Parts: sequence; structure tokens; C-alpha cells
Amino acid sequence: MANQKDYIIATLGSHTALQILKGARDEGFKTLCICRKGEEAPYKSYGVADEIITVDDFAKDFFRIEADLIKKNAIIIPHGSFVSYIGAKKMNDVKMMHYGEKAILEWESDRIKERQWLLAAGLKMPKIFKTPEEIDRPVIVKFHGAGGGFGYFIANNTKEFHERIKAYPNNNGYVLQEYIVGVPIYTHYFYSLLTDELEIMSFDKRYESNADSIGRIAAKDQIDVGLQTSYTITGNMPLVIRESLLPQLFEMGRRVVEESRKLTKKGLYGPFCLEAILDPKLNFYTFEISARIVAGTNPYTNGSPYTWLKYNEPMSTGRRLAREIKQAIEQGRLEEVLG
Ligand code: AMP
Repeated sequence: MANQKDYIIATLGSHTALQILKGARDEGFKTLCICRKGEEAPYKSYGVADEIITVDDFAKDFFRIEADLIKKNAIIIPHGSFVSYIGAKKMNDVKMMHYGEKAILEWESDRIKERQWLLAAGLKMPKIFKTPEEIDRPVIVKFHGAGGGFGYFIANNTKEFHERIKAYPNNNGYVLQEYIVGVPIYTHYFYSLLTDELEIMSFDKRYESNADSIGRIAAKDQIDVGLQTSYTITGNMPLVIRESLLPQLFEMGRRVVEESRKLTKKGLYGPFCLEAILDPKLNFYTFEISARIVAGTNPYTNGSPYTWLKYNEPMSTGRRLAREIKQAIEQGRLEEVLG
């Protein structure tokens, strides 16, 4: 019979690592953090890692140390930084035990496939305009590979688009997405493959620079200094949502999980996030899905108002993940949750 003590929970030192490692520790696992040289301080200071492996470069060195991680019987927890450093395509080369299905990450990271998935699940999404000539309402112009939404701009019509795009002669292409006026809401889910239960763990809104500070300046001054909006993520803020919206969000999450089973063998399970704008008529327009733990869960290392209702003990998403793995080991079902 497999024993929990035989396994180590490992992750890269970035993104949600503190929460993942603390959660794993609280569930009785030994923990390991792979850190870039010079970035060990938080992982040492907060004391969440039993072992720290230092590397020069995540992408290059991960595959070099992987054999050692396999020898240690480590299970890697993929988070946003892990997926982005390794690359969605190279994820298939990861041989060590990996929580979650890798194939679903390809659906998440390809804008066209992602849209196909979410529309098939019945979610409302912002309209996409194929050409600038079709623009008939405000659009947000999202450049491919724009780190942190840097350089995105809003255009009200075709003429304005052509004028403003002149400032980006060397762009690598873009998406023209309907601009939804409303508030961004990020819903953090956890779907258990072991119990077939979908949970809403928490919500967040992002703190983006400079988008979240432009409102502190008078409109006239914004124009005078020629401000450009950017959406560089700097942090996350906790949020509770109007309670009457919860049934709809449970339903949306459930449909996304069900639809995912048609796409890949096991489909989506574990933590995921629907990123949406809620308009004044209370319509959710989902513009993205993250098929793994998101940084917006970080305000809740000690649990959220929602996990408190369910667990009566501190339950972060990181800890929930570790509990799932622990229960899978205890039930002899570890293989099922690995992918
Ligand atoms: P993204 O790079 O797609 O995550 O978008 C960056 C930010 O732009 C988001 O956090 C939202 O605040 C905002 N945003 C993205 N898409 C839309 C949209 N279709 N309508 C309104 N705001 C959006």
C-alpha cells in the first residue's frame, strides 16, 4: 500500500509556490522548491520548503534536474509560471509525476481552441472581429505575446483603429475583441476527479498597472499627458461576490468541466479559473480560462470566506490540491489524478 510519506510535493519558486508548499506541508507532505539563483529568500523566510534546489534557469535546468526529482518520488504541481517557462508544447516532455492533465493545457494556451471550448460549454464571450472593417462597437486590441497586456488599446470604430494602430508598426498580430464595460471577476474553482464535486474556492480581482490608477487622474490630465492604458499585473485583491450570482457560476464551471471531457481523455480537473467581465445587466462575459491554479488564490493562504463555509479549517487552493493527492494515494488512485 502506497504511503503518503513516500511522496514529495514540488513546484517552481514563483507564482503560487508559497501557498502550494504551505498547503502540502499542512496536509503532511514533504516539500521541495526549485528556485532560481537569487530568488530563494521568500521560500527560506516563510519556511515552506523542506528542500530547495537552486537553478540558473527554469526552462533549461528543469529537464536537467528532472531525473533527480523522479528519484525523490516528487510530484510536480504546475502553476502559471511553470507552464509559461516550460511551454505548453514541451509539457508533454515532462516525465515526472505531474498533477493534472497536460493535454488540456494545449486547449487553454491556444486562443482559438480555448474559445471553441468555452463557447461549446455555453459561456458568453466577448465578440471577436475578424477584420478592423467589421468593428461596430468598442474593441480592445490585444497584441499577440503582449506581456502583461502592455500596449493594449481601445478603439471605438474602424477609423480610430487605423489611426491608433499606426503607433505599433512592428506588431506580431492582434485580436480585436469586443470591449465589455463592467467589472473583472476571476472565479477560482476546484473540480475533484475523486468525488466528481465542483467547488468554488474564492474570487479575486486584479490590481493592474496602470489601468487601476488612471481613474485617480482627471480625464483632462489623462489626455494632456497622452496616457496609454496597460494591464501589467502587479497583485490580486480578494473579493466576495453577490450571493445570487453563485448558482450561475457553479453552472458555468460544471459545463466547462463537462465539455472538457470531450476534448481530452480525462478533461479538466483540479484548480481552474474563469476570467470574466460582469456587465451592469449581470451578464458574465468570459474572456479566458486558466486550467491550473491562478495567482488570484494567493490572498487566501488561510482560506477564503467560501472555503470556511465548507471546511471549517483553513483551506487554500494549494492545500485543497494536496488533500486531493493525499486522498488519491490513500485510495490507491494516484495514477488517476496524474497526467
Ligand atoms: P488579458 O491580457 O486578456 O488577461 O487582459 C488584461 C486585462 O484587460 C484584464 O484583466 C481585463 O481587466 C481587461 N480585459 C480583457 N479583455 C477584456 C474585454 N473583452 N473587455 C473589457 N476588459 C477586458
